Amino acid sequence: MHTAPATSIVFALGLALPLCSAAGCVGVTTDLSGDANSSEPPPDPCAPAAPASDAGVQVPPGMARQVIVLIGDGTGAAHWEAARVAAGGTLAVDALEGPSLYATDALPAGTTTDSAAAATAIATGQCTFNGRIGVDGSGLPHRNLMEYARAAAMGTGIVTNTVIVDATPMAFVGHSGSRYCSESLAAQLIDVARPDVVLGGFIPDSAFAGPGLDERARAAGYSVGFELSALRAAAADAEPDAPVLGLFGEGPSSPLWTAWDQGLTPEILRDAGSDEPTLAEMTRFALERLASDDSGFVLMVESEHADTVGHLAYLDVAQAAVWMPSLVLELDAAVAEVLAWVESHSSFDDTLVVVCADHETGGYTLAASNPEDLAGASFPSSPNHTPSAVPIFARGPGSERLSDVKHLSDIFQLLTGNLDALPGTGRCREN
Ligand SMILES: [Zn+2]
Repeated sequence: MHTAPATSIVFALGLALPLCSAAGCVGVTTDLSGDANSSEPPPDPCAPAAPASDAGVQVPPGMARQVIVLIGDGTGAAHWEAARVAAGGTLAVDALEGPSLYATDALPAGTTTDSAAAATAIATGQCTFNGRIGVDGSGLPHRNLMEYARAAAMGTGIVTNTVIVDATPMAFVGHSGSRYCSESLAAQLIDVARPDVVLGGFIPDSAFAGPGLDERARAAGYSVGFELSALRAAAADAEPDAPVLGLFGEGPSSPLWTAWDQGLTPEILRDAGSDEPTLAEMTRFALERLASDDSGFVLMVESEHADTVGHLAYLDVAQAAVWMPSLVLELDAAVAEVLAWVESHSSFDDTLVVVCADHETGGYTLAASNPEDLAGASFPSSPNHTPSAVPIFARGPGSERLSDVKHLSDIFQLLTGNLDALPGTGRCREN
């Protein structure tokens, strides 16, 4: 059920429900409010800020034919180590090169980032202020990875286990002054970006003043499903290259988790026989759909739950410590799906796989590297995002330059094969 969380908790977490509509925004705290002494009305942060048309856009010449980036929201070095200990050894991600560590600050340089600014840096190579989506520090939109792919007629896909209009996926498809402009971002997702595959957490029609996301998508030619099997069936009845939208999950009912319960249920909390797909199943489905594209594709996969539990750890440190390794293993299972696909359908000569994070959440610290000690992991009293450097793993074209990824914004250069731009400065740069 979508139990409305307490407003104070929502804002403390930065994980708000949609707050903007065509009628305006509530509670948005971007710095787009204009000059307080001016009689000019403040600019509408939800006004779409679309980049120029695709005409004449050149795909970066070094970009791999297939680019797959997996983002662990809030997933730092200790998170991966906890998963490795829980798994009793090697993870799928360990088959990649790395890890290398990079900084995650937002503008002004040195600011601890949120997921919107971080995902904007990964998707566009631009540093920006917290809360912004696909625009730089001046508010100017910048072409994102998916837009480059679309200009080259490559396939595009977005997979997440949080609500689909959350900051991370939206930074790969939209441009907005605020991450909370869900109505505008949903319209950009379906009517402008039009990824071939969109899989993520359900969002109720009541979140929008206009049409719900499913209605909007059907009108735009998407096959829509609320279970993966239903989506497969709908896609089978449609044109082979018709885009697909899957909206899954209603959130878990754990007392801890009900503080914020959008998106797919963490897999460790699901009932037997749950009809929610795993992140790995969604990733496999996306790869099956995209692999038919002769021009290659770009796929973004996000795993949200390590961030959410990191934020909520203050409610129950022991419970958060018990859950954390399994939340990272959800992502590692998706990495395993990607590696299996590369092995059976492609090779690392023309497919680049990158696994990274947007920031560390929670100040998560292991007590010791033994399975019996994982429950003794700790968090500070008010867990939030931290400025800790986070790990990146990669394999494929350009991965030999992995150690030159010094900042979030450098990941964009790696993803697009623009290796001459590496290394960056290790800090956010003003435009
Ligand atoms: Zn967060």
